Amino acid sequence: MGLRATSFLFLLVIIFTAQQAAANKKSDRKAVARVKADIYYLASDSLEGRRTGSEGERKAGDYIENRYKQLGIPPYKEHYRLPFQFPYGREVVAPAEVRIGKIVLKQGEEVVLFPFSKSARVKSEVLPDILETGKIWLMPLYADGDEANNPHFEWEKTVYEKARDAARQGASAVLFYDGYGSKFPPEFNRQSEYETVDIPVAFLTNQAYKKYIADDKYEEYISDGMAGLPVEMNIAIRKVERTGTNIAAFIDNKAPYTVVIGAHYDHLGFGEDGNSLYAGKDKSIHNGADDNASGTAAVLEMAAQINKKRKKLHHYNYLFLNFSGEELGLLGSKAFVKETGLDSTKVAYMINIDMVGRLNDSTHALTIGGIGTSPAWAQFLAKPNKLFKVVVDSSGIGPSDHTSFYNAGVPVLFFFTGLHSDYHKPSDDADKINYPGEVEVINYMDEIVTQLETEPKPGYTVTKAPAIGKTKFKVTLGIMPDYTFNDGGVRVDGVTEGKPAIRAGVKTGDIIVQLGDYKVQGMQTYMEALGKFASGDKTTVTVMREGKTVVLPIEFSTNK
Ligand SMILES: [Zn+2]
Repeated sequence: MGLRATSFLFLLVIIFTAQQAAANKKSDRKAVARVKADIYYLASDSLEGRRTGSEGERKAGDYIENRYKQLGIPPYKEHYRLPFQFPYGREVVAPAEVRIGKIVLKQGEEVVLFPFSKSARVKSEVLPDILETGKIWLMPLYADGDEANNPHFEWEKTVYEKARDAARQGASAVLFYDGYGSKFPPEFNRQSEYETVDIPVAFLTNQAYKKYIADDKYEEYISDGMAGLPVEMNIAIRKVERTGTNIAAFIDNKAPYTVVIGAHYDHLGFGEDGNSLYAGKDKSIHNGADDNASGTAAVLEMAAQINKKRKKLHHYNYLFLNFSGEELGLLGSKAFVKETGLDSTKVAYMINIDMVGRLNDSTHALTIGGIGTSPAWAQFLAKPNKLFKVVVDSSGIGPSDHTSFYNAGVPVLFFFTGLHSDYHKPSDDADKINYPGEVEVINYMDEIVTQLETEPKPGYTVTKAPAIGKTKFKVTLGIMPDYTFNDGGVRVDGVTEGKPAIRAGVKTGDIIVQLGDYKVQGMQTYMEALGKFASGDKTTVTVMREGKTVVLPIEFSTNK
């Protein structure tokens, strides 16, 4: 071929590549617009943080369902929505009450009930500290004032054990009282894990104690012929069930195996379920733009792209899942695996997307979890990645929904752009999302899906459970580790108000290299070191700060 022809051909290639790049840019711009629209809606205040079982979750479900309908992707089952029930603690059933004489005590203010109390009605005429068989026992909860004002006093454990022992010794019920005025009094903990004891149990606050019992005040309520203070406990407690709703859409290519692409869409609401990291006192909407409106938008965008390329991508069926209940313990994905009779042998692999909206423009760090769950995954690490600094987590078990599928024998991949200081706070908002970065992550996942279409079904390998599961921590430091950092030590991505680290002067950006005498190389050794300390222990934490070693005195507190 002559020089002229060659240079003309070369010119053609240049033009074609430029056109291709321009086309990609254009389609990326459109993808950014779609993802932005999804995240802004899902993270808007009107959805009130999409708490499982809430009106906000329902609105989000409507939105996702309509997006699938727009895309022309039918439901997996008869309907897109797949509701699931889950136990959600216990609650008091009206008209539960405690009476002294004819006075009905005010719940919370004067009397506190316990979820592990037996539901029954008992009446007795009692005297304080006189513990007779077959009667209600009116007894102190605290041994002394120190116990009453010890922030670490385990009141729930004490109430449970003392009530259980009282039942064994013949009490018909126990009414504890606070004679000291504890600053940390018991409260009704709906999520208590204590089993129901054999007798009714309640607690008189210090306010009620002073009003009705102290200084022989109780004698005012004893009329002639009575053996003591008339006390009536009418307790009714019931288990609570809540409903969450998964959303499922399906591209049925009549293929033998199915690929699952999923993400949770629930979030924390106003932080009612105790999983918020917000230290503020005000009730605020946790908008959950990154966690996990970003993953939800990514699933919708992947669905759009796979559906568009359906003619090319038909080696597998594609199941798109939007889980609820993830923030309450992967409840939606667990329920899906268990209840829909998913045959894991028919699932080729599962991609889980949780928090892909905050790609760091300088590090470009992208965590891929589950790499050890299939020999087929190594290839994605073999070739150098121009776009991302890939941080690998080999375990199939992690803090998100892929765990439910891995545990069912499905190879998984988990995508995550890292924690940040807005994690699980009301400040996780849509205007902080890196939209072009998210689209880059989506395109990368799409490339992987396209690649896997041309390969045999990935094999499944068991991985080691991460250390996190094994060690039960009594204490916390109150830092947000940077899971994407792996250059020795643990880099601090954020410090939580009121916790030991911030009190010791640990700062965001510090790299923890030692806890007491324990060297910290990474998350694993950090977790192991943390497991060695107990509440109240005083030691030092050594950090690298701008290249200098800084040693800070620290005192641990309970992991609550
Ligand atoms: Zn999440």
